[in-house]
Amino acid sequence: MKETSDSWSAKHSAELYGIEEWGSGYFGINHAGNVEVRAPGEGAADVSVDLTHIIDGLQQRGLEMPVLLRIENLVDSRISILNESFAEAIATTGYQGVYRGAFPIKVNQQSHIVEEIARFGERYNHGLEAGSKAELMIAMSTLKNLESLIICNGYKDAEFIDLGLQARKLGFKCIFVLETVAEVKLVIERSRLLGVDPILGVRLKLSTKVEGHWAEDSGDRSLFGLTTNHLIEVMDQLRSADLLHCLELLHFHLGSQIPNIRSIRAGVLEACRYYIAMVGEGAPLSYIDLGGGLAIDYDGTSSVSGHSRNYSVQEYCVDVVEALAQQLNAHNLPHPTIVTESGRATVAHTSVLLFNVLDVGHFEPGPVPSELPEESHEQVSNLWFTLKAINVNKLQESYNDVIYYRDQVRDCFFSGEVSLRERAFAENLCFAGLQRIVALLPEMKRIPPELEQLPEQLADIYYGNFSVFQSLPDSWAINQVFPVMPIHRLDEKPNRQATIADLTCDCDGKLDSFAGPEGETRTLSLHSVKEGEEYYLGVFLVGAYQETLGDLHNLFGDTNVASVRINTDGSVDFVHELHGDSIADVLSYVEYDPQQMFRQFRVAAEQAVRDGRINVSERQSMLSAYSESLRGYTYFER
Ligand SMILES: *Cc1c(COP(=O)(O)O)cnc(C)c1O
Repeated sequence: MKETSDSWSAKHSAELYGIEEWGSGYFGINHAGNVEVRAPGEGAADVSVDLTHIIDGLQQRGLEMPVLLRIENLVDSRISILNESFAEAIATTGYQGVYRGAFPIKVNQQSHIVEEIARFGERYNHGLEAGSKAELMIAMSTLKNLESLIICNGYKDAEFIDLGLQARKLGFKCIFVLETVAEVKLVIERSRLLGVDPILGVRLKLSTKVEGHWAEDSGDRSLFGLTTNHLIEVMDQLRSADLLHCLELLHFHLGSQIPNIRSIRAGVLEACRYYIAMVGEGAPLSYIDLGGGLAIDYDGTSSVSGHSRNYSVQEYCVDVVEALAQQLNAHNLPHPTIVTESGRATVAHTSVLLFNVLDVGHFEPGPVPSELPEESHEQVSNLWFTLKAINVNKLQESYNDVIYYRDQVRDCFFSGEVSLRERAFAENLCFAGLQRIVALLPEMKRIPPELEQLPEQLADIYYGNFSVFQSLPDSWAINQVFPVMPIHRLDEKPNRQATIADLTCDCDGKLDSFAGPEGETRTLSLHSVKEGEEYYLGVFLVGAYQETLGDLHNLFGDTNVASVRINTDGSVDFVHELHGDSIADVLSYVEYDPQQMFRQFRVAAEQAVRDGRINVSERQSMLSAYSESLRGYTYFER
């Protein structure tokens, strides 16, 4: 039964799921009712590719669901937008300095991503930010362009500093950002020993506070950065070591996903005060580094909600450049190079998590007979009459009664007065009652809070083939909302309300908060799953932070990963494919030895043969199944 009604079209789905808003032009719905990816083509024209065609291609290559799909072009596009927007703001403002981006490796450390950023970013001198020795080693081996910056944040030991000084000797513009006073001594010591002058920066703790989840990264109690007192101490130490001339960069980071452009401007203005004062103290500053924070629109609302922002990339660039120019002009200071370490805004769009739905749990009443069965228990008949009396003018009262009599029936079941079948009959009546109440809710002028949650309690549960903990850790850890929607059948009206559960046996392994044009909702509109046909969902904008924060809950490992590149003629290259963890892989992560497990299983099977519980050929097929499972995917395989 296809539900395509004339009144429902892909356009309605686009509005329902807000795809044109959060999709930033990269995602939309095509005429076939499928989600398409749009990549900038030659000239002004976009090329688009149907996601279901990409899934077909994945399957032909043996990559089963779930798959993390990376669309390489989108990283390229984001780097272009960031660099071109700064270039444009710089040109229109008459700003004298240039922009240099540095991608923070921690946001997505996967080699294909970092390599693509270095490769494509070369034309813009786009660099990398490293917060540890390992990340610095990535930067040193990946960047080809000596004009690009390598910014070193984080706590640095002697080895970290030596690595960075060697990078300097090789010609890299490698900058140490000092985060603590203690680091200064070490840097002075190591650079003397290696005979290289470092390029230094200081990370300041600004008092500007931002809104959103990362509010604590800013303000006096922020974990990172130097206080004003410490800054003076650092400058004094550098001066007495005759290294103040190395202090070229001022750094601050107000937090990630800053929702309000006003806080960004306030941060720049405060940083300018420091900049001007430090130059006055003799530090030859020539870089100002705003850190990260450039937010993306996860919920499509363009608002200061925690999942969105009230500005565009272009506006961000214009505001930053103008604020800097204004402040520095007033003091006749040369304009510094502007650095940002935008992570989320660079890579979030590039990845989509695709998974299939394995099963659906319904909370629906079966048929209710038209007559109350004779000899029904008193409480069951009370429930029956409550059900008959539901009407829109007393919904709260009806709800109270339904719940009251349901509980009465349950009590009677405990005491043995009500039979198993009677209890089942009563539970069904209760569901029918609640459903009738939900159907009448829209007619109420003001819905009481208790009844507001009712639709969610009756919603379906769609069981998805993925792990929240592995693939969407921020959804669990910080209630990050990601756009979720079916990737096909969008010319059909979705007829179910659902929450989504993952494969883990954990009650937190679910998605039950969704963004939509009318704000956050607890359920998502989905289609009925058809017998014998896969139903695919996509979770979008998952390219930032999700991959490396993921964990092995229930030993669900890394998913399959595929990188594609969309060519200007609309064809798709499958550039990289990576099979996810096998069961043996995840077992070895937690220190099991799969070979030894197999040997122990063999001993148990051999014993069963000896005891006559199984025969030899059963033993053989069990052993090969066990060994096949060890090599298999940790997710549900059809
Ligand atoms: C995490 C981090 C970033 C990246 O922030 P986004 O909001 O993802 O752009 C940049 N700089 C520093 C110092 C960070 O800690």
